[in-house]
Amino acid sequence: MEKYIPDVYQKSIYDINYKKLFQQGIKCLLFDLDNTLVPPSVKEPTEEVLELMENLKNMGFKLIILSNSPKKRVEQFQNRLGIDGFYSCKKPLSKKFLLVLSMYNYTINEVAIIGDQIMTDVLGGNKVGILTILVNPITKKELIITKFNRLLEKIIIHKLSKKSVFIKGKYYE
Ligand SMILES: [Mg+2]
Repeated sequence: MEKYIPDVYQKSIYDINYKKLFQQGIKCLLFDLDNTLVPPSVKEPTEEVLELMENLKNMGFKLIILSNSPKKRVEQFQNRLGIDGFYSCKKPLSKKFLLVLSMYNYTINEVAIIGDQIMTDVLGGNKVGILTILVNPITKKELIITKFNRLLEKIIIHKLSKKSVFIKGKYYE
């Protein structure tokens, strides 16, 4: 069950204590795209997202999009944000996580994944041993596959909350 528990849990990408992450030695932030940066229906980064990404770059973070979405959608965002990106990642599979680590020469202690899904972002990140940060999904409008994942997620969260190791809405850094 431990693989389903995020290391950090916050309301949104705007509530994360990035300064603390930097001080902990995190150098690279992997961002999920859909329902983490923007809703799945939004085709371009918002002003808010652009501003946050600029601030994070200035803080010294390497920023990378790690998305299960197709090429066209991911490229649109990486180009507008001026950051690197990987599409069709098939999270929670480890492959693309490991590719990033080896390509950019980071250790697992230097990388964090930020995403809205336990079944893909958190599970994938925990499997490879990087820091996992869960945020709430921006909207409830989701793809069929995500709806299925949410069902599994609900069961997992129910089990975790029984053990008091993870409770929905109880945020922690
Ligand atoms: Mg997502």
